[in-house]
Amino acid sequence: MKAIGKRVILVRVETSPEDIHGMHAAEGILTTRGGMTSHAAVVARGMGKPCVSGAGSLRVDYKTETLIGIGASLKKGEIITIDGGAGQVLKGSVPMLQPELSGDFGTLMSWADVARRMKVRANAETPTDAKTAASFGAEGIGLCRTEHMFFDDERILVMREMILADTEAGRRAALAKLLPMQRNDFVQLFEIMAGLPVTIRLLDPPLHEFLPKSEDEIAEVAEAMDVSPEKLRLRTEALHEFNPMLGHRGCRLAITYPEIAEMQTRAIMEAALEAAKDTGKPVVPEIMVPLVGLKKELDFVKERVDAVAAQVMKERGVTIKYHVGTMIELPRAALRAHVIAESAEFFSFGTNDLTQTTFGISRDDAASFLEIYRQKGVVDQDPFVSLDVDGVGELVKMAAEKGRATRPDIKLGICGEHGGDPASIHFCEKVGLDYVSCSPFRVPIARLAAAQAAIMKG
Ligand code: PEP
Ligand code: MG
Repeated sequence: MKAIGKRVILVRVETSPEDIHGMHAAEGILTTRGGMTSHAAVVARGMGKPCVSGAGSLRVDYKTETLIGIGASLKKGEIITIDGGAGQVLKGSVPMLQPELSGDFGTLMSWADVARRMKVRANAETPTDAKTAASFGAEGIGLCRTEHMFFDDERILVMREMILADTEAGRRAALAKLLPMQRNDFVQLFEIMAGLPVTIRLLDPPLHEFLPKSEDEIAEVAEAMDVSPEKLRLRTEALHEFNPMLGHRGCRLAITYPEIAEMQTRAIMEAALEAAKDTGKPVVPEIMVPLVGLKKELDFVKERVDAVAAQVMKERGVTIKYHVGTMIELPRAALRAHVIAESAEFFSFGTNDLTQTTFGISRDDAASFLEIYRQKGVVDQDPFVSLDVDGVGELVKMAAEKGRATRPDIKLGICGEHGGDPASIHFCEKVGLDYVSCSPFRVPIARLAAAQAAIMKG
């Protein structure tokens, strides 16, 4: 529809990385399942698109292409308007205004920058996101979610080839094809950030997210890949998980398939060298390992990362600085932060997963009851929107202290969605984090909130 010049709102039960093309084409996104930190919300926020995620009173029927709501049933092609700020879905079209940035905005931001202590970085993975972030004053990238880079038409095929390979050699052959593409992604990010810090996270989501789901898609992909639909279906079934959020993801992938982390490290190091040559500014990449719970997990991955980095530097005959750190997004990692800090040069608090795992509330299924909790006064705020200072915050505070006790100069940041929430930013100032990282469009509010927090702390 976008191709024929129509403006479209993407309506899904929930989105997964394979929806990225639809999300790019859409003006806005509406999902009936999800919440503040679900895929749809995180990606739309990064793109600066309005999104209503987790509209639990609506139902999508894919078969009849109908959106069913209270007292209304709408067919594909009918007009709706969404308000991502208020979480409203309106039938029909509503007059809208484009936001404008005035000169006063620049003045206010310059005052904020003088007053604040914490740095503000952005969560960004595409050159467009990175440029937006830079234009809003981001001081680097705090989280590059590399999984979003594997969904271009050409890449997804190679990614699937890698997942379907029966042997390590087969996986390495596919990864070799991905290497130049991934390297080019990083060169672009490093060049846009021109010497500012860039944290790149190794692959995080479970592999089944890259495989087709429906029978039609399986048949189509199998034909394109020249494999039997049966093989594709079997692999998809083998990778199926009841709870992917707590399954085979994060550093667990790097431990089972180290060759993926090795390819990504090579791409990062080679890109850092290339970008430094092009811009004349040294690049110090920060390589981040996700979902670590045990120091041994980090050590296993770090050993591979260091080996590849050393290899690249030897091949090129140059030495560059780089850092290896981890996300703190599991309670165990927070509890053992003093030990993990022996290996990690930086911590980035992944408060989306940390909230999910501390509360035991799935970030994608919370919408069905959290709003009722709020209405009934059980919680004041959705903890995925504003950090639960008493519980999750206690873990962050403790991990920050433990990390510093082991490594006094450890760099501490936050990259969960709370990094763009003013109340949570105040908390980050209180516990003395070095930076917050948020979606590009939230960078100005984060700069302002960081300044207010620093002033209030006095
Ligand atoms: C997090 O868990 O807070 C995080 C930033 O990672 P993701 O949202 O990609 O899981
Ligand atoms: Mg996470």
